[in-house]
Amino acid sequence: MESYIVLILIILTSATVVISIMYLSKNFYFICPKCNQRLKIPAKKLLITAHVFDEYNLRCPFCGEKNYMKQIKEK
Ligand SMILES: [Zn+2]
Repeated sequence: MESYIVLILIILTSATVVISIMYLSKNFYFICPKCNQRLKIPAKKLLITAHVFDEYNLRCPFCGEKNYMKQIKEK
């Protein structure tokens, strides 16, 4: 019975993470600190990207710079 509840909690938690990552990918973008290109990152990539709070360790597809980039809300 108790392990059943734990399983439900795990599923709910991962669903919340996936939904928030999808929201993030749709409504936020990143700016490369080196070439100032605006980057849109797919949800699938964000899910496996290391991050500290709202800064994601991303590689810029334009200049190849790998750095922590802050998420910026779409206007
Ligand atoms: Zn760049």
